[in-house]
This record gives sequence, C-alpha cells and structure tokens, in this order.
Amino acid sequence: MQVELRCANGNTLLCWTNDTLEGDEMERREGVIVVGAGPVGFLTALGLARNGIPVTLLEAEAQINDSPRAAVYFPTTVKILERLGLLADAIAIGLKSWTFTFRVPSTGTVVAVDNRLATDDRDNAYNLHFGQHILARLVMQHLERLPHTQIRWNTRVVGLKQDAKSVTVTADTRDGPIELQADWVIGTDGGRSAVRHLLGLPFEGHTWPERFVATNLFYDFNLDEVIPESHLLRRLDVFVTTVLADLHEQLRPFYSDIGRPSVDPELMMRMLIVGYCYGIRHERKLCEEVKLHLAYRWFCRLDLDDRVPHHSTFSENRLNRFRESDLLRHIFERVVMACMAQGLVKGEGFAVDASVMEANASRYRGKAPDEIDWAQSGRQSRAVAEYLASLEHEEPNPDRKSPKVISLSDPSSAWTAKANKRVQFGYGLNYLIDIENAVIIDVEATPARTYDE
Ligand SMILES: Cc1cc2nc3c(=O)[nH]c(=O)nc-3n(C[C@H](O)[C@H](O)[C@H](O)COP(=O)(O)OP(=O)(O)OC[C@H]3O[C@@H](n4cnc5c(N)ncnc54)[C@H](O)[C@@H]3O)c2cc1C
Repeated sequence: MQVELRCANGNTLLCWTNDTLEGDEMERREGVIVVGAGPVGFLTALGLARNGIPVTLLEAEAQINDSPRAAVYFPTTVKILERLGLLADAIAIGLKSWTFTFRVPSTGTVVAVDNRLATDDRDNAYNLHFGQHILARLVMQHLERLPHTQIRWNTRVVGLKQDAKSVTVTADTRDGPIELQADWVIGTDGGRSAVRHLLGLPFEGHTWPERFVATNLFYDFNLDEVIPESHLLRRLDVFVTTVLADLHEQLRPFYSDIGRPSVDPELMMRMLIVGYCYGIRHERKLCEEVKLHLAYRWFCRLDLDDRVPHHSTFSENRLNRFRESDLLRHIFERVVMACMAQGLVKGEGFAVDASVMEANASRYRGKAPDEIDWAQSGRQSRAVAEYLASLEHEEPNPDRKSPKVISLSDPSSAWTAKANKRVQFGYGLNYLIDIENAVIIDVEATPARTYDE
C-alpha cells in the first residue's frame, strides 16, 4: 500500500507499506528503532542508549558484516568515538597515524596529507586505522551492557508507516513477518537503504564509476597444532583447566555490568602461571612475553590476534580488583582437592616446614621505626595503608620486641637473615605437608620472624 505523509517542513513523503499484521503479532517498543547494524546504526544506537533512550536495532543479516570496507577514522570521527566513550578501546585496538596517503590512479601520483598542518590541536590530529567490522563489534559490546537495548539479527525491514504518535515497522524474520511499533525510526541501512526507498526519498550522492576489488586475507594456521605434546605448558594445561573451572562463577560479584570489560580472571591466572614457570618476575615483561610467545598464547587461550592486557591493567587487577576475593586461596584449595581426587593425599602423616620468600622491598630502603613519619606524602601505598590499619587493630604485646628496621614500601615484611647469607626484607611461608607424596595441603604467609611462625 502507498501512503502520502505530510511532514512538518511542508514536504510530502510517500511511504510504501506491507499489509498490516493484526493482534498479538504487533510489538510495541519504547523509544527508537534503528534499522541497519552497520557502523552508523551501531553508533547511533549507542548514542541514544547512552542518553537513556530505549533503542531496538534491527539488522537483516545474521551477524556483523565483516567484508573489508572502511579502515580509517579521521579526527572528526575520532572525536565522536571519544564522545561515545569508545576512544580508549579504539586506541588500544587501532593504529594511529598522522598522515593520510592515497594514490591518484589517473596519474599514479602518491599524495600524503599531514593532518597536523591544518590544525593547532596537533596531538589529536591523528587518524585511527582498524576494520569497520571491529568498530561494530566494539560498539556492540558497549551497547549490550546498557539497559533497554535490544539487537535483533535476521530482521529485514520491508515496510514502514507512521501516524502522529508512532512509527510501525514491518520486518521479515526467520519465523515470518513481524510488526514493531516505536516512537521513532532511524534508517541507517546503508547505500541501498530500504528505509529511504520506503519513504520515497532520493539518493543525494553519486556513484563512483570505478569498480573496486577488496578482499580479506586468510592464512591457514592452527596454534594448537604447533605446541608439542611434551611441552611443559601442554602437560600443565589439563590440570590448570580443572582447577580454574569454576573461577568465573567465584569472581562474578567482583565484575561490573557496565564500563569496559575487565581482564578475564582465568587469563590473569594463566599468565601468572606462565610467569612462575618461566621465572618472569616483572608484569610488564610478562605481558610482552605472552604477546610474543606462541606457547604462552596457547596456554593463555589467546589467539594470534587476541590482545594481551596492558601491564598496568594487569597489575591493577592482580593487586586491587581481586584482592578481596581471596582468589589465590580459592585456587590453592582447588589444587589440593585435585590432588586428593588423584589419591595423592593420604591424610596420615604430616610435616610442618617454613621457607623465606624475599619481599618486593629494597633492602636499602629500611629505617628504624621511630625515624619514620608515615603521614608524609608518598608513603601511603596500599601496603603501608594495610600495615597501619593492622597496627590499629592489634592488641599491644609486651613480650614482643619492636623491629629494628622497617621497610618503607612493605612495612609488614620482616628484616631477616634467615635462609639467606644477606639480610633482606621477607615473609615466612609456613607449610603443612602431607608426607605421603609431599603435597602441601595448607600454607600461611607471615613476616619472616620466628615470633610469627
Ligand atoms: C571496499 C570499500 C572500502 C571502503 N573504505 C572506506 C574507508 O576506508 N573509510 C571510510 O570512511 N569508508 C569506507 N567505505 C565506506 C563505508 O564502508 C561506508 O560508508 C559504511 O559502511 C557506511 O556505514 P553504514 O552503517 O551507513 O552502512 P552499512 O555499513 O552498509 O550498514 C548497513 C547495514 O544495514 C543492513 N540493512 C540493509 N538493509 C536492511 C533492511 N532492510 N533491514 C535491516 N537491515 C538492513 C545491512 O545488512 C548492513 O549491515 C568503504 C566501502 C567499501 C565498499
């Protein structure tokens, strides 16, 4: 059916609609329906949702179109990404460049344009490069975490009509036609827009006479196949997988439904295990090594193009986000249970032992307790704050001598010469061991003082 609509600006719009569906098949949606989940549709939907407007995104295809298309975002678009809270993620994914280069086919001339020449804001005059399907995927992650949003795949809009209060969209789906009604419809369904056709609007643009060929490149590579059966990490993997099986469930309360997705706790644990096994003590180095080493990637469940967390994000998660969760104790207990399940723990004979672990504190930065002013700025690190809080809650003990030297960066550690020829700050690790197969079944860390063991 063809309908004539009079717009507020006096123009007349022609609308073609399918026959109306009656009764239960009509679905009333709050807010706005956006037609087409390309980059424009996704960004429009995100902008609306960020402003609290309910939004339904309809897409004809079953998933994001990953055919090769836009790959460059100029400074004007970068500003939009920033406004929509996407810039940090986009920078992490993309490649920055300050010049844009193209070739003029008719002359073969290569032209390089430096964005910085045309602006005072030189630092922000960069282009970002990454595929538009990656942008769509990124926006989708953000959109899905906002309330009152819905994405409907396999939903091809074929009809449109509006009255003074609402717009009704007819769409073909795998289960047959549906009708959706909302306050507004936005057509972002590309160059051959059905919404534009249904409104009888002309295409204000031009078609390039040239034909382009663009293709994705695929390589045949299976990461799993290149890791030898005898590799240490492959042999460990089967046990690690069992031990970490319920990790996500355990840590669910520590994750937020909003904001950027956090570091996966399983990834963090697997990276730490790589660090322990291969003696990589520094997290910056660990993140670099996991990025470059195929076996480490495989063990961490990262594909070749998956991103390794930034070292500062990694440290933040290890030191702060999961601190309250008792994550390491949980994993330790899972390891003990796995040993018990394998019959390695007999439960008849036990031994207690202790060893000293060096604290992450310089042996040259210790001071006598009465020389330290904890209130001085720069001293209130997490370790210091925890130490001061523990002093407040501790009952004074007259039998206990106060330490001669205290570390400024980790005051809970003890100044000790145990288990080492030189004095250092350290902790005692006290183990309870089942002697049948020397399985540690409990462990407690204390400052490395005889008194505390
Ligand atoms: C080879 C190539 C290279 C390009 N390179 C660049 C570049 O480097 N930089 C740049 O800025 N631009 C580039 N472009 C252009 C860029 O890809 C487009 O401008 C961009 O895709 C437009 O986004 P869009 O969201 O408007 O439309 P689209 O990306 O076309 O998305 C429209 C979506 O609507 C869906 N849809 C269509 N009809 C319906 C319907 N009836 N119901 C429901 N859904 C529907 C489609 O399935 C599609 O997912 C390139 C394009 C091509 C083809």
